[in-house]
Amino acid sequence: MTFIKLTVIGSGNAFCSGGRFNSCYYVEWGDKNILLDCGPTSLAAIRKCSLDPMAVDIIVISHLHGDHIAGIPFLVLEAYKADKRKKPLTIIIPPDGERRIKEVCAILYPDAIEMFQNLDIRFVQYSQNEEIEIEGFNMKFFEVSHNPLVKPHGFRIEKDSKVLAYSGDTGWTDNLYSIADKSDLFICECNFYEKETLTHLNYKKLEAEKQNLKAKRMLLTHFGKESLSRYAEIMGEKAEDGKCIEF
Ligand SMILES: [Zn+2]
Ligand SMILES: [Zn+2]
Repeated sequence: MTFIKLTVIGSGNAFCSGGRFNSCYYVEWGDKNILLDCGPTSLAAIRKCSLDPMAVDIIVISHLHGDHIAGIPFLVLEAYKADKRKKPLTIIIPPDGERRIKEVCAILYPDAIEMFQNLDIRFVQYSQNEEIEIEGFNMKFFEVSHNPLVKPHGFRIEKDSKVLAYSGDTGWTDNLYSIADKSDLFICECNFYEKETLTHLNYKKLEAEKQNLKAKRMLLTHFGKESLSRYAEIMGEKAEDGKCIEF
């Protein structure tokens, strides 16, 4: 049986509401370490969990908002300057992700081009409904309802009959049925308690759809000020920074 351990690195929204770190999940899956999203606070938050950011093999990015990608420049900087990393790193990104991430890196650190030239970093671009296989992991991506300029996607990662699913940031979309379907763990954003928007989910809608989202286990996350103000009323499993889940 493959060992899978997920550590919640950041369960907050873009504003770090409630003092929570930005989106990031560290998944130890067999002999590989996978990061789901990498917000600006991720390097500090990974260390706080006593995990090693340099041990990450694969980063999967759900969309190109800053609270999900802005930790990458610091990870790359550490890989180049401090770690002198030789180990390959694969960054799986939505359309236009490679250009935008490299631009962010270059704005923050002018020698970023040199860093990318000297590190073994490979970008793999996905698109809607595409299935890709990376180092034995089968990944499938689905468009979700968020600002289209940031190419928002949810996805499933499967290996050895285990499925980890992630909504990314999204308002309600029927694609969530496909993303969650029979997954062993479905990480689902719950930015709001009851406020309705096209770009984020709320707890009330998720409660109403819980029976139709056929995940074996669901973990709510990406909490904002309004959902945190009603936190005690949110039933089910809630992500907290530093929380570990084995499945
Ligand atoms: Zn977000
Ligand atoms: Zn977003």
